[in-house]
Amino acid sequence: MLQEMLMTTIVVVGSLNMDLVVHAPRHPLPGETLIGSHFQTFPGGKGANQAVAAARLGARVCMIGRVGIDTFGDTLLAAVQYDGVDTSFVQRDLNTATGVALITLDAHGQNTIVVAPGANMQVSEADVIRAESVLRRADVLLMPLECPLEAVVAATHLARQSGVRVVLNPAPARPLPTELLAQIDYLLPNQLELQVLANGETDLLTAIRRVQQQGVRNILVTLGEEGALLAMGDQTTHVPAFQVPVVDTVAAGDAFAAAFCVALAEGKSLLEAVRWGNAAGALTVTRSGAQPSLPSRFEVMRLLEVRGE
Ligand code: ADP
Repeated sequence: MLQEMLMTTIVVVGSLNMDLVVHAPRHPLPGETLIGSHFQTFPGGKGANQAVAAARLGARVCMIGRVGIDTFGDTLLAAVQYDGVDTSFVQRDLNTATGVALITLDAHGQNTIVVAPGANMQVSEADVIRAESVLRRADVLLMPLECPLEAVVAATHLARQSGVRVVLNPAPARPLPTELLAQIDYLLPNQLELQVLANGETDLLTAIRRVQQQGVRNILVTLGEEGALLAMGDQTTHVPAFQVPVVDTVAAGDAFAAAFCVALAEGKSLLEAVRWGNAAGALTVTRSGAQPSLPSRFEVMRLLEVRGE
């Protein structure tokens, strides 16, 4: 199975965060101190998750980002390097701490999250230009939105000039300039993100049309257990999800985006790339955690072989 693998390069411009999770019987009231139970740290950040996901699926991955000069930064770099991600262009920021997400989980599994993006918000146009030679030779540029728009725009320009396909996962959702949207080859929102980009429109097809009117050519909306909907011009194609037992849906979108990009980079058809996305997303929801739950190439290929039509 692995013989089919082509060496392709994916560049990810994105965030690295340390997730700090504390379990508590309930959420504290303002001013209250609660005694919780256990505490865990997990490497995360959408950028790092997508980079690791693409590396596990067999691509050569180079990441552009920033962490601080602190132990969380060391741990996050080690985590992505363990999966073979090239971190030559992840800068150590002298003045800003590594990004963290403070997560409180109550007895019912409900969470509250406060993110301090820290060094992620220092990623700059200059950081992108430093990686220009790698970016221009990449097969696909993949970006979530946890870094400044300036870096996303700079990377998009360089990629487009060199014919590198640009995939934008607009998460977390925010309004985007039409000049940027018009340069994206594939926009990959989930349903909520699509709704934000469509000014609150809740009807799926109407929302897609609205975002297309902003200049995006192709939109691939992930629909959780419903799979994904690919919209190209007037045509929409629904690709159903793989039915799996769900344990934890964290990072499903990251796995989907990475798998779609790897398949695209390898020259697979669009529909096949969406199936790769669905397979990687499905495998991810069967396990808990973000980076630990991301599947290998072998697992994705086996699921496609056994459960593909
Ligand atoms: P996000 O994690 O960004 O909110 P989604 O929930 O849409 O994104 O999930 C991304 C992809 O992961 C889906 O398009 C689907 O392929 C897969 N997926 C998510 N939830 C399930 C599920 N319950 N069963 C099977 N596949 C799933």
